[in-house]
Amino acid sequence: MPATAKASQVHDGAMSATIIEGTAVARESRARTAARVRDFVALHGAAPALATVLVGGDPASEIYVRNKRAAAAGAGFADFHRHLDSAATQAEVEGLLDELAADDRVAGILLQLPLPPGLDRSALIDRVPPGKDVDGLTTLSQGQLARGTAGLRPCTPSGIIELLDVYGVPIEGASAVVVGKSELVGHPAAELLLRRGATVTIAHSRTHDLAAVTSRADIVVAAAGMPGLITAAHIKPGAAVIDVGIHRTPAGLVGDVRFDEVALVAGFLTPVPGGVGPMTIATLLSNTILAADLEAARRGQHL
Ligand code: NAD
Repeated sequence: MPATAKASQVHDGAMSATIIEGTAVARESRARTAARVRDFVALHGAAPALATVLVGGDPASEIYVRNKRAAAAGAGFADFHRHLDSAATQAEVEGLLDELAADDRVAGILLQLPLPPGLDRSALIDRVPPGKDVDGLTTLSQGQLARGTAGLRPCTPSGIIELLDVYGVPIEGASAVVVGKSELVGHPAAELLLRRGATVTIAHSRTHDLAAVTSRADIVVAAAGMPGLITAAHIKPGAAVIDVGIHRTPAGLVGDVRFDEVALVAGFLTPVPGGVGPMTIATLLSNTILAADLEAARRGQHL
């Protein structure tokens, strides 16, 4: 459990989940990154930059990018932000990514998704050089993840593993079900759990009888993007439940998991907000300082 987290549990009868305080775990991770950025500045004389690229005016993306920039600045990174309008062509976005790729001050490049229709998303993601791929989404980074070789890992899945580790949830030998198979979250989360020795099942929209699959799992990662999909009936008593979903409703943000009922069954549960979301940003920052350190070491070897 993080040092600054309060031991909060939901009590009602015999069962009560330990609430995984993502906000506190993320705060501690950001503080460690800030210390590494200070060391980098002391050694190299300038702060490494995180470049954020936003294309179009999707309101949720604007909020996500604003939060990422604020967190990066708070950890001491230089803030390079570029905003192209939704009419930007493939060549214009590629040109911008190439410019940032060639800029030695830029340690990491974050291309905010989704992109406006008409742009080739895979080609643009792969325009980011692997050493600056702090989102861990390029073909090379995903191949490194699949092979288990060194590389930058996707932020949300890495944040999920960190939450499980900080709260002492055993992964090796556990039965884990990831609900969702997206390139961004579900698939890489399953890959990381597999690498750590879990027996992993990936469920998705074509899965028959989801509850029968998830209710056997010690760890459930809900990343379907369906509000309230996971109920108490989907969860084995004592399981760790990680809710990745984020949905804006008139009542506020909710996840894929029905928090109140699942909290009575699960052993561990992440809240929304304040669970996985803050870890995504914290991991983006730790990936950025890792990228900066690796690049500085590489250049040092070539002097
Ligand atoms: P996506 O739409 O790309 O993928 C959703 C996946 O869920 C698909 O593989 C689909 O097959 C599966 N699915 C859909 N309905 C299902 C059902 N009824 N039963 C089982 N599986 C089902 O979404 P994504 O990009 O992976 O994001 C998933 C959710 O996580 C969204 O709510 C998104 O907003 C959220 N998200 C949160 C963070 C964070 O930092 N907390 C980061 C990224 C995404």
